[in-house]
Amino acid sequence: MSQSRHQLRRPFAAHDRRPSPRWRTPVALAAAGSIALTGFAALPAAAEQPEGPGQGACKTQEDPQWNGWTDHAELGAALRHIERNSAGRVEVSQIGTSTLGRELWSARVGTGDRVLLVQSAIHGNERTGTEALLGTLRDLGTSRDAATEHLLSEVTLVALPMVNPDGGELNRRRNVLSWSEVVERYPQLADAPRAWYHGLRGDGIELPGFDLNRDFHPDLDYVPRAGDLPGRQVDAGFFLAPESRAIRDVYVALRDEFGAVDGVVDLHHMGPCDRITGGPQDGKLISVALDYPPLGAADGAAYQAEWPLLDQDKSRRYALAVARGIQRAYGEQSPLAGVGRYYHPDEREYAGQGRSAFALNGSASVLFEVRGQQDDLGQKQRGMLVRSVRTGVESLLSAMASGQVDRLDGDAFFALPDYGWDSSAD
Ligand SMILES: [Zn+2]
Repeated sequence: MSQSRHQLRRPFAAHDRRPSPRWRTPVALAAAGSIALTGFAALPAAAEQPEGPGQGACKTQEDPQWNGWTDHAELGAALRHIERNSAGRVEVSQIGTSTLGRELWSARVGTGDRVLLVQSAIHGNERTGTEALLGTLRDLGTSRDAATEHLLSEVTLVALPMVNPDGGELNRRRNVLSWSEVVERYPQLADAPRAWYHGLRGDGIELPGFDLNRDFHPDLDYVPRAGDLPGRQVDAGFFLAPESRAIRDVYVALRDEFGAVDGVVDLHHMGPCDRITGGPQDGKLISVALDYPPLGAADGAAYQAEWPLLDQDKSRRYALAVARGIQRAYGEQSPLAGVGRYYHPDEREYAGQGRSAFALNGSASVLFEVRGQQDDLGQKQRGMLVRSVRTGVESLLSAMASGQVDRLDGDAFFALPDYGWDSSAD
């Protein structure tokens, strides 16, 4: 099994895509070059690149085993365990079923009026968030100290720790769903072209499926129409997959219950070797890049008339609470606190991402892009990055509970370093 997966795998094919930074450190270039030239077998050599002053090498792990990452069956068992040990605090429920029949789990904790919805692994092979959420749920379920009690009285956390288990079990980005199955459910699409974000294969695996993180529409009641297909990257998606519909249904139910969903966090991974440009950790490997919704020029101005609840500054305040919390927890120089801004030029426009659709409905939405894919990371890096993610989510919960998140200056988000993608801007 692991052998065939090894052969199928293509490094970097599944990372969240973005154009290469215009600028990179020589070390990063050397490491990337060695990977491109030598392929799988020599990949560990990337870890042996000489280190520049003050810079750790970009170590990637070419062992296709993923021992130690929680798989779908283990997740179900872990959640049941957390629920049992929480004396009624944590409530685990099934919010839907994946195409291949796996349970989609939700875990809810807290009784506060402010709601944070956090999802992980919508790209199946991006899973530090799953581990981080399990840690947070365990702690919130059992800690009896005053700070935790206060937090849980102010905030309700709804965690969806693995929303694409079929992709996850294949260690790939896409889910597994054929177009004929889509048409079976939506006969009105019989003569329509396939949605642009449906593919016949993914990450070297010859099974069709969706990039689920393009399958969202800000009209949460949207029903697929043949004339809207295939759509384009800048357009909303069509809710064609059971996984994205389940996430949408959770969001709608929370909005009905609370009046609004304050925040939505989406946990992802990016390339393994990106380095911070500027700030106290200039040139070092980034740990987590944060982003607000990619809705085109002038802060999504084109959407504002139809979606007046859109508040990009609010999303940046929430992202800033994450960054500040991580920096405070570890100190600005710690590798755990290598926080920056994710790639976000004006022309980046993805209305079909869940974070965009929910932001257009008034939620603050924060994207986490953790460095490295699950099988690029060695044990030590993985543990470190899981800690960073967990601290980030918990910092946001605290800032929501105290109200501090509302008092931050959203513009200060732009002072976070990036990783080279706009360093040559004039
Ligand atoms: Zn992703």
